[in-house]
Amino acid sequence: MLSYQHAFHVGNMADVHKHLALHAVIQHMHRKASAVTYIDTHAGRGLYPLDAPETRKLAEYRQGVELLWKQQGEVSKNSLLKTWLASMAPLQQMGGDGGMTHYPGSPWWLVQGLRAQDRLHLYELHPGEHAHLGDQPLPDNAQRHHDDGLKGILRLMPVDTPRVCALIDPSYERKGEYVEVAETLHRLSRKARHAIALVWYPLLPAGHHHELLDRLRDTGMRKLWRSQLYWRSPETEARGMYGSGLLVFNPPWGLDARLDESLGIMLSCLPEEAGYQADWWVGE
Ligand code: SAM
Repeated sequence: MLSYQHAFHVGNMADVHKHLALHAVIQHMHRKASAVTYIDTHAGRGLYPLDAPETRKLAEYRQGVELLWKQQGEVSKNSLLKTWLASMAPLQQMGGDGGMTHYPGSPWWLVQGLRAQDRLHLYELHPGEHAHLGDQPLPDNAQRHHDDGLKGILRLMPVDTPRVCALIDPSYERKGEYVEVAETLHRLSRKARHAIALVWYPLLPAGHHHELLDRLRDTGMRKLWRSQLYWRSPETEARGMYGSGLLVFNPPWGLDARLDESLGIMLSCLPEEAGYQADWWVGE
């Protein structure tokens, strides 16, 4: 039974971390003309109006993307943050206090980056969320699937393009998903050794993400780079998500330096206890 709805959390720091990395990876893919198959295994709605009742309830974007949006002059000194923020400008409606009115989810970022020679597969299992995703106009080379994205991505392999890039971004409503994600990534790496894959995971006091990380290390997979953003110290007495983690399989050259620099700037917008750490979980 799926109950998670991303609209309650949209635009928070986890989204910023994940979508900034996705934007950097898409820019990297554009350096070559050869075609890419993009796969979003957990797509969500696509585009989120920030005045939706679900989003207004927690308004997590105020402690996320809006912190950067309101300091654009300063943070845009970094080229990655500059292009990332500028991409969202055409979505914003005029008026009000100059804050944001819309925030785009991963399908929107992927559609923006799609070239005529590329393909895009968007998977969403929740019937309501899948229906919302249908409101987003898609180009002919993009396809929506009302299906399980972890099974779907494996079924798609091999693809008929020279390159593959996947975002695996579950809601982790079930504890078993950490292991399922690790197994899916491992199987993907065997079917498409050259694929680039970003896997998002939450940093929670219960530490479930260690199951994902440890299982992947046990498979013997190589080239897993890890990027973790903390907005609260794990030691702080608090419940709920204290940070955002990303594992990148086959990270593009230079991604580490680009994220390092932009997340360093972002930290100046966050509370003092916030931090950023990146390393090879498993090296080459
Ligand atoms: N990737 C989106 C973004 O960045 O904007 C957010 C995705 S949200 C964290 C997770 C989504 O996955 C939810 O919309 C949920 O309904 C959907 N979902 C859960 N299990 C799924 C599965 N097995 N296959 C496909 N979608 C699933």
